Amino acid sequence: MGDAPLIPLFDVQLEQAHIDAVADTLRSGWLTMGPRTQEFEQAFAEHLDCKHAIALANCTAALHLAYLAAGVGPGDEVIVPPITFVATAAAARYCGAEPVFADIKGNHDLGIDPDDVARKVTPRTKAVCAVHYAGYAADLPALRAVCEDAGIALIEDAAHSPSATPVGDSRKLGTHGLAGCFSFFSNKVLSCGEGGLLATDDDDVAATVRSLRSHSLTSGTWDRHRGHAHGYDVLGLGYNYRMDEPRAALLTARLTGLDADVSRRRELVHRYRELISDLEGVTVPYEDAEVDVSSCYVMPVIVDDHELRDPLRAFMLEERKVQTSVLYPALHELTAYTDRASELPRSEFVGRAELTLPLFPTLTEDDQDRVVASLADGVRNLTRAGAATGG
Ligand SMILES: *Cc1c(COP(=O)(O)O)cnc(C)c1O
Repeated sequence: MGDAPLIPLFDVQLEQAHIDAVADTLRSGWLTMGPRTQEFEQAFAEHLDCKHAIALANCTAALHLAYLAAGVGPGDEVIVPPITFVATAAAARYCGAEPVFADIKGNHDLGIDPDDVARKVTPRTKAVCAVHYAGYAADLPALRAVCEDAGIALIEDAAHSPSATPVGDSRKLGTHGLAGCFSFFSNKVLSCGEGGLLATDDDDVAATVRSLRSHSLTSGTWDRHRGHAHGYDVLGLGYNYRMDEPRAALLTARLTGLDADVSRRRELVHRYRELISDLEGVTVPYEDAEVDVSSCYVMPVIVDDHELRDPLRAFMLEERKVQTSVLYPALHELTAYTDRASELPRSEFVGRAELTLPLFPTLTEDDQDRVVASLADGVRNLTRAGAATGG
């Protein structure tokens, strides 16, 4: 075991065709806001079967613009889950609004709980953001009902969930609310380094987002280049949230392999679940049927005795060279968000008890066996050590 190489949490392997697509773009001499961005937007809109797909600098920008398009402004509130990346909540603060946390459902489903969302709605609430944790759909029918009752927008943080659907519904995640926000950050299911996209079927939202993406200018560089516009006006306070051409080209090239990557992730997750199913002391969230329609971004497990979680992670890394992560520490317990703390016991437990196992399409079954053995040995050793000291 001493010489075994590290099994990373995540790995990205580009094919020659992906590299060629970027090199061709660099040779073309047109590096931003051009035909490759349009081509990617068209391809992703078709993939999602939605009307508008707008490429952006990253998913944080997509969330910011989605909230703005939903009318979120100073003094408003946006309801978000605490088990998410900080961007979901930070984007509300960019609008001058406050993120308000609603608890997650529990250990078996780390998505936001619609009943707690309903309890957290106030006259100042403008939107609810559903995070499709690890690529598993949040409870969209119930969330939509709460939002319709309250007359507020449902935004989807689909950073984890390209090409996924809810169980029994063929519409892709990211197309169920007013807007869906995607991330192409390097460790995501479909990646280009830094990139994002907003999907919507709403023409007004699309027009707002396209305008805000580029400083609320009345015409783009590419339009002017093609002689379609001679000058421009600035209609409001906009941003530079544009994606550039090399990234768009890389994404178009990689999009063709997305479904195969997701299939492989699902196989690996099914195999993990089978290998872990008999292991005492850990709980695996979600059901097999949900795996079949998830994008399987990460492989979460819950360590039932949460005090073992950190020593277990240390054992796996130091003794067995298996990298793990925590997705996520509960956001309302982190420094910049603590003054918004309220009672969110299920999120607090998951934030202390969750660990994420290595998962990527090129993970081998041998390495997967090593990961599971390190998890099983770690849990067994730590449980026995605890029992011996009467802990
Ligand atoms: C990665 C991530 C984001 C932010 O995406 P960026 O493209 O890095 O801005 C937002 N929400 C969730 C749930 C994420 O995992």
